[in-house]
Amino acid sequence: MIILLSQDAGPSAVITELKGLGLQVEVLHLGDRTGLYARDPEGQIPADSIARIPGVEQVMSMTPRAPLALATRESGGGRCISIGPARFGGGFVSVIAGPCAIEDAAALESIARLVADAGATVLRGGAFKVRTSPHSFQGGGLEALRELRAASRAVGLPFFTELTDPRQVEQAAELVDGIQIGARHMQNFPLLLEAGRTGKPILLKRHMAADVEEWLLAAEYVLTTGNDQVILCERGLKSGESHVRYLLDVGVVPWLKQRIGLPVIVDPSHAAGDWRLVPALARAAIAAGADGLIVEVHPRPEATRSDALQALPPADFARLMEQVRALAAMDGRQLATATATASAPRASETAGARNTAVGT
Ligand code: PEP
Ligand code: MN
Repeated sequence: MIILLSQDAGPSAVITELKGLGLQVEVLHLGDRTGLYARDPEGQIPADSIARIPGVEQVMSMTPRAPLALATRESGGGRCISIGPARFGGGFVSVIAGPCAIEDAAALESIARLVADAGATVLRGGAFKVRTSPHSFQGGGLEALRELRAASRAVGLPFFTELTDPRQVEQAAELVDGIQIGARHMQNFPLLLEAGRTGKPILLKRHMAADVEEWLLAAEYVLTTGNDQVILCERGLKSGESHVRYLLDVGVVPWLKQRIGLPVIVDPSHAAGDWRLVPALARAAIAAGADGLIVEVHPRPEATRSDALQALPPADFARLMEQVRALAAMDGRQLATATATASAPRASETAGARNTAVGT
């Protein structure tokens, strides 16, 4: 953090105080002002406490504001998370696709095949749905989860599904390949901890009103369990606008990629809320450096009870996949595929990368 000293204060008393708290301190000459650069190796001292030291005018954290012990690039490197054939990060882009909710077991396998054929490497589908209205379809629960697992095994792709309650985790953990934490549960801390303890990859969506710090601290909850398989997912923010469902924060993608050692993907479906906008947002996300996408796809949106308007028809999804492949290649990255993920990514992405394979 950078500490700006009051104009009338010399640095020595403040330095003594900071060192006493265990911080490492260097003096900065900022034009006609004096500042201090302080490093808190343990990440223990709140900025607010430092702001109360006499002689300190302002404490500026080197964003993110809160102490991120575990998610920073220094501690993680440019991490690549592997789930079956999918690779998120480390020069690879992967796409998760499938229906919003698991509704019809027979249709599920054909959707799974459609998205697999188009190049998706992970399936999605909600069994425990989080709906704004208690009168809306709430999902098929464990039975639906088993159906998704069967479809996943039939087509040979792993799957992510959302869990919404820590009480679901023990039973569901045996069945799932990856756990999605939905936007509305981003700060369900008991859920983050239970899900983290499974050791399964966690797809952590950003709440629609969360700032980056809150989102990253939610990731820290998972990381404190010792599970470093966290993929961040931007899915749009509440904005007061109505031309899109949520306002996609594309800028957060490169911002995070420069600072945080976790893969970042984007959900263009929930951001757009309209299938006609989904491909453009998806392309913007990949162009901005996202390590992947999660996209809702359905061949018969009219037959779905959840998020029908944003479901991308399979032909449009297949076209999007080709565009994703081309955009990834433009900056030296590669679309992970179920058959061709073995070749090496570009060297700059592997430096310091940890490649953690997850059995499915
Ligand atoms: C979903 O992915 O099905 C979902 C409900 O997304 P979000 O949590 O981003 O609203
Ligand atoms: Mn949905």
